[in-house]
Amino acid sequence: DPVPLHSPDRQPDDPDAALRPKSLSEFIGQEAARENLHVFIEAARKRGEAMDHVLFFGPPGLGKTTLAQIIAKELGTGFRATSGPVVAKAGDLAALLTNLEPNDVLFIDEIHRLNPVVEEVLYPAMEDRALDIIIGEGPSARSVRIDLPPFTLVGATTRQGLLTTPLRDRFGIPVRLNFYTEDELREVVTRGARLLGIAIDEKGAREIARRSRGTPRVAGRLLRRVRDFAEVAGAKTVTAALADNALTRLEVDSLGLDAMDRRYLTMIATTYKGGPVGVDTLAAGLAEPRDTVEEVVEPYLIQLGLIARTARGRCLNDAGWQHLGLNTPQPKGG
Ligand code: ADP
Repeated sequence: DPVPLHSPDRQPDDPDAALRPKSLSEFIGQEAARENLHVFIEAARKRGEAMDHVLFFGPPGLGKTTLAQIIAKELGTGFRATSGPVVAKAGDLAALLTNLEPNDVLFIDEIHRLNPVVEEVLYPAMEDRALDIIIGEGPSARSVRIDLPPFTLVGATTRQGLLTTPLRDRFGIPVRLNFYTEDELREVVTRGARLLGIAIDEKGAREIARRSRGTPRVAGRLLRRVRDFAEVAGAKTVTAALADNALTRLEVDSLGLDAMDRRYLTMIATTYKGGPVGVDTLAAGLAEPRDTVEEVVEPYLIQLGLIARTARGRCLNDAGWQHLGLNTPQPKGG
């Protein structure tokens, strides 16, 4: 298993796929986004037109891919998926676009990682449903415009700010996804348990929900691991005590933080005396890419109020010191 237990990143064989909700009504949480999408989907369907382009942004594992699939399903159109780093050349994108059926949904995950040359191809495609192709080379080269079928581009990115302005401006429907509440995650866990045939009581589901980092993908993963512990222990039902025991052994603490989160907090506390310290310094110290620190580790720690992002760097808040079992150092007098 190349993906760490508690990482919100998708595993290559994506065992969560079986748990994906298949309709907006099955989709738990993200109420504002769901209600708006429902309106736009219905309107496009009634008019028989392609829906406007949608941009999902938010931390990994919150349901961006799932919602993109649901949009196509509810529109009754085809669904094609790719990702920014995979579309290496302008021709790759041109091939994808020219193979779409009218009103199809084209999903581009990690759209902020498209190479700039490919991104240029996307602008007229999104705006005028046209491809500008250069034919020939040198002085005889000429540009030919090809019309495309109407389509809906659904882009996903971890942060809206990572996109170039021209690309961002071409999405008519920007949708921010937020971390899920404990109650929503309890529903995710209960639903997942039902689909996987796992007996779990209310408190057991709540314990897993509380420790899932606000992220449905993590909830699904923890549920499957807790089931392993339950099976080996010969337990019929996952209770709070069993979930707590399993998660503690998996080094997922009471707030749902994993070993990486704690290393991050401890580094600010001990090496940098609570900060401020720059993200590059922290990333180097943790031997993790800066992107991972900024997009995976920090958002949830900020959400919990354990750390703050300031202009001068990252600082540990009182709650962060407390979670490490340390006293907030008093500023030196004088
Ligand atoms: P993202 O594209 O944002 O990284 P995904 O759409 O792949 O996230 O979601 C990850 C997994 O989490 C899905 O496979 C699904 O099992 C689960 N999931 C996501 N959102 C929900 C939800 N609202 N309700 C139930 N399960 C969800």
